[in-house]
Amino acid sequence: MKKIDMHAHFFPRISQAQAAELDATQAPWLAVDASGETGQIMKGAQRFRPVYRALWDPQLRLLEMDRHGIDLQIICATPIMFGYEFPAGKTAAWAERINDMALEHCAANPARLKALAQVPLQDLDMACRVASQARASGHHGVQIGSHLGARDLDDEHLVQFLIHCANDNIPVLVHPWDMMTDGRMKKWMLPWLVAMPAETQLGILSLILSGAFERIPESLKICFAHGGGSFAFLLGRVENAWQCRDIVRADCPHPPSSYVRRFYVDSAVFDTGALRLLTEVMGADRIMLGSDYPFPLGEQEIGKLVLNSPWLDATDKQRINAGNAQEFFGVES
Ligand SMILES: [Zn+2]
Repeated sequence: MKKIDMHAHFFPRISQAQAAELDATQAPWLAVDASGETGQIMKGAQRFRPVYRALWDPQLRLLEMDRHGIDLQIICATPIMFGYEFPAGKTAAWAERINDMALEHCAANPARLKALAQVPLQDLDMACRVASQARASGHHGVQIGSHLGARDLDDEHLVQFLIHCANDNIPVLVHPWDMMTDGRMKKWMLPWLVAMPAETQLGILSLILSGAFERIPESLKICFAHGGGSFAFLLGRVENAWQCRDIVRADCPHPPSSYVRRFYVDSAVFDTGALRLLTEVMGADRIMLGSDYPFPLGEQEIGKLVLNSPWLDATDKQRINAGNAQEFFGVES
């Protein structure tokens, strides 16, 4: 059965000097160890995350795709590369450089590697321009963060960006980043375990409860990472709140559950019960295989969760493994 992994990251060999053109102390870069096999994503002088060669070397990525039985992988930036906090002009130049590097990475095997672009989301005009340029140059969509500082996805500027993507046929992957922490999640990767699912839930509800989905064309292809975070498990709570409190339904004319047909999620939920619930809430035609490769918090045997879900029939598995992504990204079978 064909498999497309639509949520996988790369981080090119950006030097500290290149990163300094964006910001000398806060921009991310890659420090590769003498062995060439491992390294660190750096943020200025600080170590951010230990990584290994598959993140920047497409040849190793392709070998590992063979091992996992992945036919096609759609790569995107590691979210620390977004650069939304820097001046827009600098981030635009940075995004264009990263987007070129993504295409260079994919050039190792263009039939098996495709890329999503990043954009300077803090400036609407620049973001639209970079997104459309990237689409024209061979990217298969864009990846954006789930918010822009204090502005969530219902922000008019962000809604306008999504409308642009709908009109220009640019698929969008929304990835949580810049997690809400309030200083209380210092240990045990809690920002990744608590705040990331909540950020994604916040992004989805910002589009639903604000009524933004009423204004965004239905042609928008938008997918939320990590199975949509907390959304599927908490939809019942949201639905009850919409029924019982006028302030919840003030801007949202239809029940929240009616909007699940407007977006997709990936399959990165790591638990068969969770995938079962996700399938019941979203439908098998709204879930795409996504691994978060090559990070430790990704699925370690890509596709195993879907494979080990006996309630999914062969048709559903084919949709999740490949068919939905083929339609979403417009890639050939
Ligand atoms: Zn990810």
